[in-house]
Amino acid sequence: MTVDLRSDTVTKPTPGMLDAMWSAKVGDDVYGEDETINALEAKAAALFGMEAAIFCPSGTMTNQIAIKCFTQPLDELIADQTAHVYRYEGGGIAFNSAVSTRLLNGERGVLTAEMISPEINDPNNVHYPRTTLVVLENTVNKGGGNCYTLDQIKPIAELCAKRSIKLHLDGARIFNALTFTKDKAADYGQYFNGISVCLSKGLGAPVGSVFLADKNSIAYARRVRKVLGGGMRQAGFLAAAGMYALDHQVKRLQQDHDHAKSLEETLNNCNWVTGVLSVETNIVIFDTVKEASYYLQKLAEKGIKASANDVRRIRFVTHLDVHPDQIQYTIEALKNLNE
Ligand SMILES: *Cc1c(COP(=O)(O)O)cnc(C)c1O
Repeated sequence: MTVDLRSDTVTKPTPGMLDAMWSAKVGDDVYGEDETINALEAKAAALFGMEAAIFCPSGTMTNQIAIKCFTQPLDELIADQTAHVYRYEGGGIAFNSAVSTRLLNGERGVLTAEMISPEINDPNNVHYPRTTLVVLENTVNKGGGNCYTLDQIKPIAELCAKRSIKLHLDGARIFNALTFTKDKAADYGQYFNGISVCLSKGLGAPVGSVFLADKNSIAYARRVRKVLGGGMRQAGFLAAAGMYALDHQVKRLQQDHDHAKSLEETLNNCNWVTGVLSVETNIVIFDTVKEASYYLQKLAEKGIKASANDVRRIRFVTHLDVHPDQIQYTIEALKNLNE
């Protein structure tokens, strides 16, 4: 048996999704003529209470476009030190936007208004870059899939509004967060200037992310996407997968969360595990006695793939291509590693 717990990006399109892709109506999206993309953008924007949206090939691109839209060269943005936009986007903040990054030490990547407020630079002092953007991540990838609730976001949004700072959400796994917190997607739009939503993580589309914002920002985002080489033509075949994901594959995320919980429970009773970050969604991060590579090798021999998050830290991610029998199989393998 093979169980791939490396990431929720490894999912393959389901038969229903392939059917939807096959029958998509397409056109040239750079001319604005792809009706499937237009429909996906309208649907995603409405879902989160935002004015407009743009479909892009990846979450990295939607985040980088957002940063470009909300900053000027020489500005500074604030993010947690674990933030994907900083750690895993190849240094794109500096390259694409010529913006510096102020990194904070959140609690498992979660920031508060109290943490952010003293880090905002005095805009009248020319020594300092202007702080013009805060980026939050929900769920927090490196924090172990933990969530912000809207109650936690609200004071940050109020602080940003008061200081004329834009607020962007890296919502690569926002639907996992919504599944856990029970907050409503439609309530998000009032707090954020921009939101990135990935369709190719837990939602199971092969490609794609949407950036949501006000109409003017999205008009500018179309320019930036073109410059980055992300202006796609008959990409409605891909948007159809995203549309199908939104319509049919959000509800099932709870199953991934249940699977992650079962893994957490087992790991908490393994004597080779020194701690598990409490599980909220589909990510399980845990620390090990020996180096992670030792256990990853043992698991790989059983066909179970996972990744190291640090020297003694392993990450499991559950997703739609990990079925209940595979979770059971993994649980047995984890127990067998007891010493
Ligand atoms: C996966 C991910 C992204 C986007 O990644 P792509 O592979 O470029 O789609 C952005 N933010 C977070 C937190 C992610 O986990």
